Amino acid sequence: MQQSAFLKLPNDFYELVLPEPQQNARLVTVNRSLMDELNCELNDKQLLALASGNLTDDSLINFNLIPLAQKYTGHQFGYYNPDLGDGRGLLLGQWRDQNNQAWEFHLKGAGRTPFSRRGDGRAVLRSVIREYLASEALHGLGVPTTRALAIASSQEQVQREIFEPRASLIRVTPTHIRFGHFEWAASLGKDALDALIAFVIQHHYPELADLPEDEQAGALLKAVCGRTAKLMAKWQAVGFNHGVMNSDNMSIIGETFDFGPYAFFDDFQIEYICNHSDVEGRYAYNQQPKIGVWNCQVLAAAFGQSVTNAEQTAALDHFVQTYNQQYVSEMNAKLGLATQQETDKDLIGDLLVLMDKQRVDFSLFFRRLAKLGHTDENELRRLLSQPEEFEPWFERYHQRVAQEALGEDKRQQRILANNPSIILRNYIAQQIIEAAEVGSFQPLNDWIKALHSPFENHPGLAEFQQPPTPEQKGLQLSCSS
Ligand code: AMP
Ligand code: MG
Repeated sequence: MQQSAFLKLPNDFYELVLPEPQQNARLVTVNRSLMDELNCELNDKQLLALASGNLTDDSLINFNLIPLAQKYTGHQFGYYNPDLGDGRGLLLGQWRDQNNQAWEFHLKGAGRTPFSRRGDGRAVLRSVIREYLASEALHGLGVPTTRALAIASSQEQVQREIFEPRASLIRVTPTHIRFGHFEWAASLGKDALDALIAFVIQHHYPELADLPEDEQAGALLKAVCGRTAKLMAKWQAVGFNHGVMNSDNMSIIGETFDFGPYAFFDDFQIEYICNHSDVEGRYAYNQQPKIGVWNCQVLAAAFGQSVTNAEQTAALDHFVQTYNQQYVSEMNAKLGLATQQETDKDLIGDLLVLMDKQRVDFSLFFRRLAKLGHTDENELRRLLSQPEEFEPWFERYHQRVAQEALGEDKRQQRILANNPSIILRNYIAQQIIEAAEVGSFQPLNDWIKALHSPFENHPGLAEFQQPPTPEQKGLQLSCSS
């Protein structure tokens, strides 16, 4: 382990804080496949010490880590909040992989910090398992995301709606810098803003460092907008509802970041709101791309002291173009199409209207579209309450497929390669959490393994490849974390 590169920024950007260790913690799980990807040589004793915040453990002493809480601000539900920052997470340090890429280790649930406000600085087992599952599920689906390396838990009780076991999670990603960091920097002034821009380019967008100096800030803004647009298109395509797209939850490298009341679709519902406290539906499914732009506008405004108006406009235009292109490309892949045509937007849009009207199971519909025109095509129609309403669309789809000259085998292969056989449904996550809360972590480990290869068939998980029952769909989850 090394000290975090973030320490090179001016001290306005962080506070040094030591974690509040968990007592008698145990290592609940370790993400072995991520350990391999990172070429991480930490042993379980060291991982437990890190994950439980016990930095004085003798196995860690030599690392001499300097943990810190990051200061940022941000727009929450449309309103600026100047008082944000890591309220219950600490950047512990970083790990360099075999390619010299640095991965920050962030301990979520590390205890109180100067930014905790009224919070207790803690996390509960339920919420860290939900983050662990979602980040690994999205990674398996090919969606950029922070990762989860390990969970520690203890007998300490934390009060949410009820008392729940305390736990903490090591989150891993190249950077935890959010849009909100730039909002904070802008409030400090141009020097701080330029320092942050230079830091992000040096560490995370090195390809921009060769540009003339006066073009770099604008190029960074544009690149971030492009990555965010791609991320939004991927969320829409996999049916992921984030739920709290505040600007302090938007990653500067375009990853899915901060998991709260998220949900993958069971039934498709275009205006679906996964966050019960989001009464106005600001972060509903169909709003996500628009909110992505909105957050990029906030970011562009924060860059204002260092970019021109024209650069701001160009960056936001780049978002829109990138999103439109990426969205059709993602959705066409789901439909088994290899090319793009002008009318594909309508084909996709009309399908979603039908799916919304009949509340069709999102992931099963696309997976079973592979069966259309085959002897088992009834498995697709069985998902529809009024299959006859879909017939005209199926006809248009057949015609569109015919223009591909792709061949039926290729169509099927593309559908199966782009639509998962298993998806992290809420009821599945809930079963995994309930098992873990009584000390059984096998379901968690088994599912993580499966979610890392969601496009395979997984015959052993056949019962989870059926539409959920009404009780399974109606599950109300606590959103507190
Ligand atoms: P979130 O909704 O998780 O993105 O959190 C918004 C802000 O609240 C961030 O600044 C968090 O660090 C802080 N926060 C969330 N939960 C807690 C907690 N239990 N204790 C202290 N701060 C928290
Ligand atoms: Mg957050």
